[in-house]
Amino acid sequence: MQKATNANSIPVLMYHHVTANGGSLSVSAINFEKQMRGLAERGYTTLTSSQFADFITGKAPVPKKSLLITFDDGYLDNWVYAHPVLKRYELNAMLFAVTGLIGNGPVRPHSGQVGVQVPDCPPHKLAKEIMFSENPDPVMLRWDEIREMVSEGTFEIHSHTSTHKRWDLLSDASINKNSSFRHDLSTSRDTLVEQLGGVSDHFCWPQGYFDDDYKSIARSLGFNYLYTTDARGMNVANGDTTHIYRFAVRNRPFGWLGQRLWLATNPVLAPLYNAWKSRSDARKQKRKSSH
Ligand SMILES: [Zn+2]
Repeated sequence: MQKATNANSIPVLMYHHVTANGGSLSVSAINFEKQMRGLAERGYTTLTSSQFADFITGKAPVPKKSLLITFDDGYLDNWVYAHPVLKRYELNAMLFAVTGLIGNGPVRPHSGQVGVQVPDCPPHKLAKEIMFSENPDPVMLRWDEIREMVSEGTFEIHSHTSTHKRWDLLSDASINKNSSFRHDLSTSRDTLVEQLGGVSDHFCWPQGYFDDDYKSIARSLGFNYLYTTDARGMNVANGDTTHIYRFAVRNRPFGWLGQRLWLATNPVLAPLYNAWKSRSDARKQKRKSSH
């Protein structure tokens, strides 16, 4: 059946962890399953990065209920809990991986397999500590797991730099923010080419930070689609490819996500909602800085 009618805008979902119990920056395995089942049952289309690129540059339309699922960082739990669910519902996602933290070694068990003991996937706070320790392997993906996700069609892999460092905060007389960022991003690009045989032109800012220098560096290294953590706007055809809006998915069943998607794509309500949220963000910021 042809899915006619074109989308006006594409919501981009942002996930980090899918874990057994949820927690900060995490959706529980049960709620993730409910969310993906809800999308599949209601006829949503998960776009690939190139379909999204064609839409946002105005080259080709996409079906009305289209969206993009993204994951940041490259945690092991994406393989253990998200990959089998995406596969079950024939959905696909983009993963922005911190390429320098992806390890080597055999493929570990995942929750779609019967009679296996899946690895422990700790909550975000602990995962973050381990991620930046000497040995990030217990919480991060391995290249062979990534290759399997790619070949099964559940995940595409894109760059999220090699180190996830905030060079703007680390710069001093000895460290230059812009050249450090350029090196970080080009190392990541080289790693993706070496490990996966290619690199896309989609890139996501670590911790959501960017400025005009960073944007021109990313563009000069061949990254044309830049993903932010800014939720206050709509991704429309002929929109700004260097400022792609995303919203964080909460640890809630499909009902919440369904409503959020409806709001995000409603041509009348979405701009009002985004403007209202921007004002409330600014108020919160003001309160914070006055304390
Ligand atoms: Zn990140």
